[in-house]
Amino acid sequence: MLQFDLRELASGPVDTAAQLGAEDPLFEGLGVALTGPVRVSGRLQAAGAGRFYWKGSLRAQVGGECRRCLAPVPLTVTADIRALFTEDPDAQEDPDSYPLAHDATQVDLRPAVREELLLAVPPWVVCREGCRGLCPRCGKDLNAGPCGCPPARDPRWQALAALKGKPRD
Ligand SMILES: [Zn+2]
Ligand SMILES: [Zn+2]
Repeated sequence: MLQFDLRELASGPVDTAAQLGAEDPLFEGLGVALTGPVRVSGRLQAAGAGRFYWKGSLRAQVGGECRRCLAPVPLTVTADIRALFTEDPDAQEDPDSYPLAHDATQVDLRPAVREELLLAVPPWVVCREGCRGLCPRCGKDLNAGPCGCPPARDPRWQALAALKGKPRD
């Protein structure tokens, strides 16, 4: 679905609309909890000898988890993609560049989709600004009200106190 024949590309740009299921092997091992299909769109075109430029975008539904209270946080992840598929080994230090074998008969957009999806997913999320999170002692969700634990001492103050208590020489 995301592989395009070079002969087809020789006659002009092609549309790259596709939908990949969450269970597609392409997304295996990414550590991204997809909750729906990944939609891809854009245009792929030849850009000189052995070079193909893809201007596209992706959109995915991801099941995130609040970093503070662990509540599920549904996310819509989008990314604009600018990718160059090239036979030129010198271009391959460019992070937007993907290698193309000299004897390739098609351009495969899937590695770019995989990588761009990974980059687009935020490393952590919160369910809302001001989420109080879980009590580090008893594990109660503090958004539902205070627990019975004595107030935790601020670790920054503890570090300062430790510093002050240090003997000087
Ligand atoms: Zn939360
Ligand atoms: Zn508590």
